[in-house]
Amino acid sequence: MVKGEQLYEGKAKKVFATDDPELLIVSYKDDATAFNGLKKGTISGKGVINNQMSNLLMRYLAEKGVPTHYVQELSERETLVKKVSIVPLEVIIRNISAGSFAKHYGVEEGIVFDAPTIEFSYKNDELGDPLINEYHALALKLATKEEIETIKKYSFRVNEVLKDFWKQCGVTLVDFKLEFGRLADGTIVLADEISPDTCRLWDSATGKKLDKDRFRRDLGGVEDAYQEIMKRLTDAFEG
Ligand code: ADP
Ligand code: UDP
Repeated sequence: MVKGEQLYEGKAKKVFATDDPELLIVSYKDDATAFNGLKKGTISGKGVINNQMSNLLMRYLAEKGVPTHYVQELSERETLVKKVSIVPLEVIIRNISAGSFAKHYGVEEGIVFDAPTIEFSYKNDELGDPLINEYHALALKLATKEEIETIKKYSFRVNEVLKDFWKQCGVTLVDFKLEFGRLADGTIVLADEISPDTCRLWDSATGKKLDKDRFRRDLGGVEDAYQEIMKRLTDAFEG
């Protein structure tokens, strides 16, 4: 596989072409941003952890019936993925109140919901990723009705699989963000990443935050938290 030109540099990853028009290489950086890019920093070793964690979880999800863009881990920071056209909707699933949900609705963090919730943001940096509902997404032709149904089905399935998986690691899956894309033939697959940058993960026993909130909220011990959550995951896969 020949690595081609850089197509895109995002906040957390770089994307490269390959000699196969249907494949891309993503390269994970240590750069961290929050609040729509207003807060910037570095989390040493994050790129390696996010790459490896996302790949382990995507392989696991594929076994459980969720198709993904994952093809092959190329190195500590680089992965070969299927090229997709990203559906410009960020899907957020929540099991417990936190973050923008707690703020929007004026409730404390940590309320355990009877059933998971789903919401969409319009993936558009200039607009600050505004919340959007299915009718608005259809009106803007961001996806078809069928695609949205598929995305919802896969998102709840991801939640069931990962909630159970993290539970075995002594970790509570609070909420997370997913992105989906279309392959050349229109098939919807899970894309982007699943990592402590995109999930809230709390230690089940102590409630300690083991995710990007440590960076967002200046809680300290950011690198240690990423290492701790990665260790929990690799122990579970090896054990
Ligand atoms: P951002 O664009 O939000 O700064 P990143 O730094 O993570 O985010 O950049 C990675 C970009 O690559 C994102 O825009 C993401 O939607 C996109 N992407 C992820 N997976 C794929 C894929 N399989 N094919 C095409 N684009 C992808
Ligand atoms: N999230 C993400 N990217 C975003 C927005 C949110 O990965 O652009 C993740 C975030 O890490 C959390 C979940 O989605 O796990 C819900 O985030 P929330 O809406 O509470 O927003 P925040 O508190 O991050 O503003």
